[in-house]
Amino acid sequence: MTKNIAIIGAGPGGYEAAIRGAQLGANIYLIENNKVGGTCLNRGCIPTKTYFRNAEIMNSLKRADEFGIEVEGYRLSGKALQDRKNKVVDTLVSGIEKLISSYKNIEFIPGTASIKDKNTISIELLSGGNREVEVDNIIIATGSKPQMTETKGVDLEGVITSDDLLELEEIPESMIVIGGGVIGLEFASIYQELGTKVTLLASRILKDIDKEITRRLPMFFRKQGMETYVDIRAKEIVKDGDKLKVIAKYKNKEEEVEVVGDYVLIASGRGPVVEGLNLDNIGISYDGKGIKVNDDFETTVEGIYAIGDVNSKGIQLAHVASNQGIHVVEELMGIQPDINLDVYPNCVFTLPEVAFVGLTEDEIKEKGIEYKASKFLFSANGKALSLGETDGFIKVFSSKEDNKILGVTILGPHANDLIHEGALAIANKLDVESINRTIHAHPTLSEAFMEAVHGLDNKAIHMA
Ligand code: FAD
Repeated sequence: MTKNIAIIGAGPGGYEAAIRGAQLGANIYLIENNKVGGTCLNRGCIPTKTYFRNAEIMNSLKRADEFGIEVEGYRLSGKALQDRKNKVVDTLVSGIEKLISSYKNIEFIPGTASIKDKNTISIELLSGGNREVEVDNIIIATGSKPQMTETKGVDLEGVITSDDLLELEEIPESMIVIGGGVIGLEFASIYQELGTKVTLLASRILKDIDKEITRRLPMFFRKQGMETYVDIRAKEIVKDGDKLKVIAKYKNKEEEVEVVGDYVLIASGRGPVVEGLNLDNIGISYDGKGIKVNDDFETTVEGIYAIGDVNSKGIQLAHVASNQGIHVVEELMGIQPDINLDVYPNCVFTLPEVAFVGLTEDEIKEKGIEYKASKFLFSANGKALSLGETDGFIKVFSSKEDNKILGVTILGPHANDLIHEGALAIANKLDVESINRTIHAHPTLSEAFMEAVHGLDNKAIHMA
């Protein structure tokens, strides 16, 4: 008998699960109360990465003289920046809409879903009226939304979230970014390059990452002109004429800092979207971190699953949401999913980029694993020199016992593309020899990865 599955939310988690479920023959109801693509496509990954491209171009223009190019009088228009972002988003949204509609066994229902019982979804249709669908299973993929801090003054005009910033048609003259997580750092770095005078207030720089990155990234930011404060917490936001002032206090000393800007971006985390789902009445456990799930993403009610940002696993990444969704539908359709969900690349689109996968050196030490470490600098890589992007390094860690690659951390040009060779190695438990056996093309940034791996056995050619 055909399985009926309702998926609530058509973000990357929900819509990819819908397509995979349809490919496997399920009858899918995909319910969405906004646009397909969710946060990622409309207010997250894609909009920020179109801005990131502008930031890269502005950075190249600033440094044009290094390449012997004289550039005079360039200016970025906030409206053009927005228009380009909207065009990219619209192209992708309509592409996904077409893709979904090409599956006859996916019914896309524009509306707000609520769970009536474990086999019934009630939908308040966007076109008016209500509808109910009967299903065998339910997948909650309702994602997350920006979370405001409890800092005094967050309700003042000009205090914004990432959603608001992406709708702003102007490029602010000055902006204070509160938050040293991925979203805060990306916006700080991007807007600094777009011409905004950015002040970063971070209680820490990224979580669970190589310590050298947390030390070096603020140094790069400062070199680029960003006022950067780390180990500091915002205490209060107040009006200061027509600007906003943030009063912040260092975590480990009494000293306070006062900074002023036109806008204050609060990037202090995101919380699960659970309102209106009727979770309490049907017995699904959740808290401020998300819906509780087991290793197969099943909630406390049998047959109902939660994937992506909304669950309590705490990994807010589009590719993780998609893979969790695909994992659930494959299991529901009787297929044993063949993917290692514990290995996923973390990418930070700052200038320079940061990416890591697998274990960090600290985690390896904590686990008591005997390991080897190697670091290759981009300044010794021909392609990086030709690009004029020599800042940064690739670090690789391997197990002494079986030579398997344990972790890779990259700071530098195209880190977010380069990281996948490390992800491939770790997810497939490849050892150092399998990388060593693979000829890497010259001149490429990938050679830096190869040389970092060669360095584990002291046989890197371009390492002293
Ligand atoms: P979402 O994408 O949030 O989708 C949930 C969907 O459910 C939404 O469309 C919502 O409208 C819908 N919905 C909610 N409630 C209901 C309901 N009751 N009925 C019907 N529909 C409902 N991740 C990366 O991997 N790479 C990046 O570069 C990256 N950059 C980011 C930049 C920013 C500024 C932000 C905010 C996030 C970024 N992320 C990035 C995170 C990424 O966007 C999320 O991890 C991802 O979107 C989560 O997917 P999801 O499907 O779980 O939820």
